[in-house]
Amino acid sequence: MKAYEKLYIDGAWVSGSGGKSIDVINAATEEVMGRIPEGTVADAQAAIAAARAAFDGWAAVPAARRGEYLAAIQAGIKARADEFARTITGEVGVPYKLAQRVMVGNPVNTFGMYAALAGSFEFEKTVGNSLIVREPVGVVGAITPWNFPLHQIALKVAAALAAGCTVVLKPSEVAPLNAFMLAEIIHEVGLPKGVFNLVSGYGPVVGEALAASPEVDMISFTGSTRAGKRVSELAAQTVKRVALELGGKSAAIILDDADLATAVKATVSYCYLNSGQTCAATTRMLVPASRYEEAAKIATEVAAGFTVGDPMGDARLGPLISAVQRERVRAYINKGIEEGAQLLTGGAEPPEGQPRGYFVKPTVFGKVTPAMTIAREEIFGPVLSILTYRDEADAVRIANDSVYGLAGTIWSKDEERAKAVARRVRAGQIDINGGPFNPMAPFGGYKQSGNGRESGVYGLEEFLEYKSLQLRPAKAA
Ligand code: NAD
Repeated sequence: MKAYEKLYIDGAWVSGSGGKSIDVINAATEEVMGRIPEGTVADAQAAIAAARAAFDGWAAVPAARRGEYLAAIQAGIKARADEFARTITGEVGVPYKLAQRVMVGNPVNTFGMYAALAGSFEFEKTVGNSLIVREPVGVVGAITPWNFPLHQIALKVAAALAAGCTVVLKPSEVAPLNAFMLAEIIHEVGLPKGVFNLVSGYGPVVGEALAASPEVDMISFTGSTRAGKRVSELAAQTVKRVALELGGKSAAIILDDADLATAVKATVSYCYLNSGQTCAATTRMLVPASRYEEAAKIATEVAAGFTVGDPMGDARLGPLISAVQRERVRAYINKGIEEGAQLLTGGAEPPEGQPRGYFVKPTVFGKVTPAMTIAREEIFGPVLSILTYRDEADAVRIANDSVYGLAGTIWSKDEERAKAVARRVRAGQIDINGGPFNPMAPFGGYKQSGNGRESGVYGLEEFLEYKSLQLRPAKAA
């Protein structure tokens, strides 16, 4: 049981003003595994005031020195890596091995990446008679989701601190314990007070207070499109910068010359990553109509290999995060059946042998049409939809027939052909033939998947303003 009683504001652990707390539930056992304070608007305002007061000082710290603090935070996370992995496995339900590799491995790399970028980024550049100066945008409100909790926090906090911004973090109330561990590390490394602040609580209270505050210069938000729209509305009143990383309904386009077995296997695996609770998950698998039967058979077999069970054991599929999420996903599965999709494997009933935990069966739907709800809405569970297309143009049309545009994959024996198709898909990140994740590449969405970019130098630049200093050319002698 990890019980955190206090918020982290202005370099100190302080009691919140509301006196209430929120229970954190273990997704596999449904037992209370932790507790955090339920922050209030007053708590958010205290944190914003601390971040405001710390801003000028932190912005003036040489960037390379800011990078040294980030490297120290990275070392602190590494030293507690196993505790982080176990905590996130409990909060989220993700298999422990995946937690080690992705949920903790990525944040370690992210802090290291921004430690290095702080030292190497060119904050000043001469253009004609102007000196172009990149300055930190100011006080940043960072609002994060639960699905890759520490990864999403790291992408914002490390980049913002490297840029010279100060931060108020509002982590997800569903998987917040890792954020408190990070705050402990930040406290230990001695970051100047007020530079990083943590206020836990509910989105409509703490999150909205950050979005509405005139003293916050930028909101960096990752979460649902619904909440992202609300944050944007509030932020518009003070014309603050808003970077949004939202939902997705990404398509895997398997072209007719692709190695079908490899492509289908990879698509199912990507769809089921973190029990399908991955924003970039390829939840729509597009196959040539002539190869549908073959693709459906392979997908069904691959799905059967996703054993459901204890995330601390050998299971490949842990539970979903919460009872609410489980019910949502089951409702989508029922909707798919109602609307006439063919249930190839899985279903809405609970998996056998799992009396507790928020488990859902790995599910594959065949004969899905673009108009069906399961082809249009983000399900956020282990549910794959197989759609068919006539020709390449039809595949691109179906892939783009979505309000989202976060990611996608293309599979073809011919890389040039795959690249040409990728250029026609309106999405921010497309993996070709299983090209691996690259942390130096920008990540973010088109359309209602958002308007921000995180990771690499692009993620740093999100937190910077441009200032042009027009210099009078020196008089010729
Ligand atoms: P969510 O929108 O419910 O919550 C995200 C965060 O926003 C939480 O901290 C929450 O407390 C806060 N919040 C909720 N309502 C708010 C409001 N009115 N004002 C301010 N803050 C508010 O999302 P979630 O369920 O935690 O996460 C899942 C969603 O996140 C999915 O839609 C997923 O696709 C998306 N996501 C996107 C990316 C990306 O990079 N594009 C990455 C991960 C997750």
